[in-house]
Amino acid sequence: MISVAGVKFQLPTALPPYSIYSSIFPLRRGRGLTGLKNLGNTCYMNSILQCLSNTPQLTEYCLSDKYKNYISRSNKTNGQVIEEVAALIKELWNGQYKCVASRDLRSVVGQYQNIFRGVDQQDSHEFLTILMDWLHSDLQTLDVSRMRETIGAAEQAWLDFTKAKESIILHLFYGQMKSTVKCVTCNKESATYECFSNLSLELPPNANECQLNQCMDMYFSGERIQGWNCPNCKTKRAAIKKLDISKLPPVLVVHLKRFYADTSNTGSYAKKQNFLSFPLQNLEMSPYIARAESRAAKPKTYQLYAVSNHYGTMEGGHYTAFCKSPNYGRWYKFDDQVVSTLDTSNVISSAAYILFYTWLPPDTHARCFDDV
Ligand SMILES: [Zn+2]
Repeated sequence: MISVAGVKFQLPTALPPYSIYSSIFPLRRGRGLTGLKNLGNTCYMNSILQCLSNTPQLTEYCLSDKYKNYISRSNKTNGQVIEEVAALIKELWNGQYKCVASRDLRSVVGQYQNIFRGVDQQDSHEFLTILMDWLHSDLQTLDVSRMRETIGAAEQAWLDFTKAKESIILHLFYGQMKSTVKCVTCNKESATYECFSNLSLELPPNANECQLNQCMDMYFSGERIQGWNCPNCKTKRAAIKKLDISKLPPVLVVHLKRFYADTSNTGSYAKKQNFLSFPLQNLEMSPYIARAESRAAKPKTYQLYAVSNHYGTMEGGHYTAFCKSPNYGRWYKFDDQVVSTLDTSNVISSAAYILFYTWLPPDTHARCFDDV
């Protein structure tokens, strides 16, 4: 067992790899390799859904019906989003269909967010961020409030965000960022904490080729700000604002900010086509962890398991997903209704838009909340 924020994950046993799916469905060719029909520019949705479907802990949670024990009906989406996501994941994993349509899910998400209703192309990052928020609140039923004698600022901020109600989505995908502002005159520091379901990184300007760690370094390097109200000096001061990760999630989602407002054409967006190289294995996050936390937690290295790709422009673009199947242990390309094998050497491309990393072993099976 390994424990993530109080949630136990069962470590692989002596069973053969990827056996958790075999215990639910007999082994059939093509499980999880089902395409998604394009319902009119829905490739942005399809791309994200395939990345989530290849997240073994989430898929197992849906296939085993465990989610049914934790549905919350007292929120905006009434538990409908998790029900439709689970129904779709079951279709993708029963191995009977070459492709299926996500009509019911699309109708539910369109009901709660207008922009997902029409046939216009949307941003897969925006869809993912909203979907994560909905899935979390649809499953946010576990009461984790405990009597605590002393509680740190980071932990207090986490409890304020979760309202002491957690979910598998929170435990898998949500991390926490520490933002420190330090007065350059008296060195007084002030820290605030914020939860995130993905990291949104700028690409370096004037570089056709760059590396993911350059984007990370830029994001975490700190910046000088003016006019900070220093509580110690009791006046406006120059200060250094710096971000560090105070809590790393087991699944780390990294968004590359390729789209930006086009200043030469008001109201439209341009796209950065930089070729970004990123590690398929052993993404090292320890340099970006806040100091107090890095002493407590052992450093984690992440493995890539899914990529949401964007080709073309904001208006006339197309999305696909590259995912490493937890069932077959190799990479596939999910292009709407067509699923094909993908050589590992082709996973990195200039279309990469959202990267899904995890430090959980692929056949780790989330026994969320059973032992809390
Ligand atoms: Zn000061």
